[in-house]
Amino acid sequence: MKSVPDYFGALVFDDRVMKATLTDDVYSSLKKTIDEGAPLQTEVANAVASAMKEWAVARGATHFTHWFQPLTGITAEKHDSFISPSPDGRVIMEFSGKELIKGEPDASSFPSGGLRATFEARGYTAWDPTSYAFIKDKTLCIPTAFCSYGGEALDKKTPLLRSMEALNKQALRILRLFGNSDVKCVRTSVGPEQEYFLIDEKVFLERKDLIMTGRTLFGAKPPKGQEMADHYFGTIKPRVAAFMSELNDELWKLGVLAKTEHNEVAPAQHELAPIYATTNIATDHNQLTMEIMQKVATRHGLVCLLHEKPFAGVNGSGKHNNWSMATDTGVNLLTPGETPYENAQFLLFLCAVIKAVDDYQDLLRLSVATAGNDHRLGANEAPPAVISIFLGDELTAIMDAIVRDEPYVGAEKTVMKLGASVLPNFNRDSTDRNRTSPFAFTGNKFEFRMLGSSNSIACANIMLNAAVSESLRVYADRLENVPDFESALHDMIKKTFSDHRRIIFNGNGYDDAWIKEATEQRGLLNLRTTPDALPRLLCKKNVDLLTSCGIYSEAEIRSRYEITLDNYCKTVNIEALTMVDITRKNILPALDGYVKELAETIGAKQGALPELSCRYEKSSLTKVAALVDAIDLAVERLETSLIRYKTITDVTEASVFIRDDMLPKMAELRSVCDEAEMITPEERWPFPTYGKLLFSVR
Ligand code: ADP
Ligand code: MG
Repeated sequence: MKSVPDYFGALVFDDRVMKATLTDDVYSSLKKTIDEGAPLQTEVANAVASAMKEWAVARGATHFTHWFQPLTGITAEKHDSFISPSPDGRVIMEFSGKELIKGEPDASSFPSGGLRATFEARGYTAWDPTSYAFIKDKTLCIPTAFCSYGGEALDKKTPLLRSMEALNKQALRILRLFGNSDVKCVRTSVGPEQEYFLIDEKVFLERKDLIMTGRTLFGAKPPKGQEMADHYFGTIKPRVAAFMSELNDELWKLGVLAKTEHNEVAPAQHELAPIYATTNIATDHNQLTMEIMQKVATRHGLVCLLHEKPFAGVNGSGKHNNWSMATDTGVNLLTPGETPYENAQFLLFLCAVIKAVDDYQDLLRLSVATAGNDHRLGANEAPPAVISIFLGDELTAIMDAIVRDEPYVGAEKTVMKLGASVLPNFNRDSTDRNRTSPFAFTGNKFEFRMLGSSNSIACANIMLNAAVSESLRVYADRLENVPDFESALHDMIKKTFSDHRRIIFNGNGYDDAWIKEATEQRGLLNLRTTPDALPRLLCKKNVDLLTSCGIYSEAEIRSRYEITLDNYCKTVNIEALTMVDITRKNILPALDGYVKELAETIGAKQGALPELSCRYEKSSLTKVAALVDAIDLAVERLETSLIRYKTITDVTEASVFIRDDMLPKMAELRSVCDEAEMITPEERWPFPTYGKLLFSVR
């Protein structure tokens, strides 16, 4: 058997392959494009394309595709084969530099949020040479950006790359102020921890709600859920282990650094974490990971659920976005340094993040807003919809000391003097752990925990990079050319800490008392749902931020607004329609059958022995018959809501209607159906129960 280092990245046209297959000139010219964004010459593109094709064909590829990330949140690909007719009636395999660099898919069926009228169907895909090409399903996949005929970004990659560039530019200005002249660029890195559920395919196929919507719309609580805490980090069952093993193999071949795997809190819930990578690569890899997870699951008779809340009453799935900034010289800017002076630089970058998160709480919240994630945020297991930062005790104490102009008393009770030029020296805080904070400092990185499991991580990172780059810009503007850098720096750090103290919270984020304190005393935002959060995207301060650092044009912002809300509306609308369908076609007929059976049993029993009370049958009959009426009423109310929804044309209005009218009616319908499930014999219930779904895999 081959060892992992032998096949890791076997399907990736990575640096090693480039070196081996390209001439020195072509290689160094391509490297310049990758590392410094230098334009690509046609001859170089042709040479790279030809080498890529040779390499891919030798590995069984027959097609190529520009692989991109439209605003649907998933990836898209249109395959073209390499074949080209030759005069002798046969074919040769061809691939040109032009085909590598640019594609022209018909863009008309992708959401554009008004950026492109349907008649302007043309869209362009453009090669992103910073993310390696790879082979998937016999197809050479070329990571690309996707834009409209007019040049507006129609994807998630383009703004992500722009946000990384914005941060790079401002971070370099700050580093220069600290005398770092060797650093050429600053990149953000991300390690996304991916949660998911695995259930048996057979039970999945019997659940229309899972098939249509990815989550259960009905289902009473099973006798056992996650209360015993016996699943978290538990022994991995053989079928799951076989799945994980094959998944790792597939991901490793694609160069994805799959590293950690374990069972999560809820039954049937698991997690996979890769080793962190540069943000755009991490984003591409996370998209690939989600796709491969679902494919590999099918091969094992399993279904991988990536929905944020597949089951009520047990934990949902999120994605923890571990984020840091590092220089090309290998320095993580969020690592506390060895000397007070290094720590001043660290503290300034830390301040930049604190200021960014406080100033742009709304952008961060809305970057993870979807109908699915609304079920999670604010529920018991996920971070609340209120954004706050966990800093840990030591950093918080340092911060408070700086604000009060007091000496900082460190862990060893040594007193650190705080003057204009002496910022404290302290230990890296490695002991604190807080699982409930939406945004936690974990020693040398921040962990943004509000992302939903099915979200592309692009949006969250775009907003985070944008907000931090803005703090850095403000700092650089103020610190460049000051006569006394050190005292200006000290004042700046002190000002940030005191202005943004309200966003720091080290306590339990799941506590109701916190939400009250956060909103009433600290004035933090509590944007509970997608329709609450999204309108904030159009606020002047947010539009100014995103346009001024060149991440989005105003039209692009508007399009994201429309698409996100439209997606929210469509998602819930499909769920409501599915509920009506299941209630009318499955639940009510099943219950009526049960009512009939009970009535017949009573008749038969009393016909045989008139003195029998038939206590059980009669009480069941009374309860079930009453529930049938209640369900009929509830489904009718939901149908009325669906009809009214259809008459609303404005997407903002529609989303508010869904939040205030349709979702509550869905909850009412579910509640009466779940009640009926509890008193109906299992074989009469028309689909598998939570017990079967959650404990189906051995
Ligand atoms: P946890 O205890 O939360 O599971 P880990 O330390 O195992 O955290 O890391 C979780 C994720 O954070 C992994 O994907 C890891 O690669 C990533 N990570 C570690 N260091 C960094 C960093 N400097 N920048 C970004 N991500 C990082
Ligand atoms: Mg973590």
